Amino acid sequence: MKEIILAYQGEMTLKGLNRGRFEAGLAKNIRRRLEDLGPFTVRSAQSTLFIEPQAEDLDMDEAFRRVSRVFGLVKISRAVCCDKDFSAICETAEAYLGPRLRGVRTFKVEAKRADKKYPMKSPEICRELGACLLTRHPYLRVDVHAPQLEIMVEIRDHAAYVHGPKEAAAGGLPVGTSGRALNLLSGGIDSPVAAYCMARRGLALHHIHFASPPYTSLRAKLKVQALACELSEFIGDCMLFVVPYTKPQEYIRDHAPAPLFTVLMRRSMLRIAGRVAAKTGMEALITGESLAQVASQTMAALACTDAAQDLPVLRPLIGMDKSEIVAIARRIGTFETSIEPYEDCCTIFTPPHPKTRPALAEIEAAEAAMPELAALEKTAAETVEKIFVPIGQEPDF
Ligand code: ATP
Ligand code: MG
Repeated sequence: MKEIILAYQGEMTLKGLNRGRFEAGLAKNIRRRLEDLGPFTVRSAQSTLFIEPQAEDLDMDEAFRRVSRVFGLVKISRAVCCDKDFSAICETAEAYLGPRLRGVRTFKVEAKRADKKYPMKSPEICRELGACLLTRHPYLRVDVHAPQLEIMVEIRDHAAYVHGPKEAAAGGLPVGTSGRALNLLSGGIDSPVAAYCMARRGLALHHIHFASPPYTSLRAKLKVQALACELSEFIGDCMLFVVPYTKPQEYIRDHAPAPLFTVLMRRSMLRIAGRVAAKTGMEALITGESLAQVASQTMAALACTDAAQDLPVLRPLIGMDKSEIVAIARRIGTFETSIEPYEDCCTIFTPPHPKTRPALAEIEAAEAAMPELAALEKTAAETVEKIFVPIGQEPDF
């Protein structure tokens, strides 16, 4: 009995003429996620991907885990394939799911008949297969409302597939089908969640991190690298650009009015990120900002930050509470790393009374009084360190 993975497309099934592009992107992402596990074929038909191992002993548990994290799929199941002959379906269901049936008291059969020419209709398939399984497991009872085990039969064009309940997959759209963006990744809770949310909408992304040694440590940088690696499970391999930010930051600290420091620094960070993005073909920036979370995230402060450069700034967490963000961070597995206590450059030199309603005119006047800032930013952008983050190779820190 050969097991395969059936993966069901989500929102992309609604994409009229563009659908082929989404399907191709999804199949490509799945192939890349599985390539080091051994040979698999990935075929798309009737809104479903058929993922088949082409050798004995491939690690199907790991393949299933990986595919369940690929964006673009709503549901996923492990299944076995058999001939469409009804007695073959009964034998296959017994052989594949018999052991699980022995562990429950109630069950139900659900049938999907994608091949409309199949001689039996869905209710008949359910009834007959249910009866066949009951003769082999007489202690069972059918419960159509809340069964302990649901058995599914799908009659497709070329074969029938038998499986247990479908499991939830990652949802969203395939990474790479919505363009490319650069995510501002700090070591905090928010920015990894922001990256996850935007990748789930189909963005391919890389990360940029601002480090200010010796105020921030090597371990802080490794922590960010670990976060990028955890995210790569969903996003794929990516680059982490680390900006040497000490000099521009010290310069702003020494030459600007203290209450404006944070907004000036954030504008400076976005300008540098904008330069790196333009050089690497990224079409937008992403941040983990959430309205009114801190002084630099008021409407007025965000407006000043946005005016610093031309790329769109995507803020997927803008309307979320911290508790909602934390719940996502826990679910995707970044929370524990995020709460490790290392200094971020955004939390050094912070003034005691940051201005919550800065006006763009005063911000621009403060920048005009810092003639050397542009050159320092240019150098920082040009000397950025490029770290490749491969999936699954998390650094210790
Ligand atoms: P998090 O850093 O996860 O948001 P936070 O709320 O402490 O936690 P803030 O200081 O509010 O972070 O920064 C707001 C956003 O600015 C972050 O979500 C992130 O996108 C970006 N950011 C902050 N610090 C850095 C950094 N050192 N490098 C890159 N981006 C940063
Ligand atoms: Mg934040």
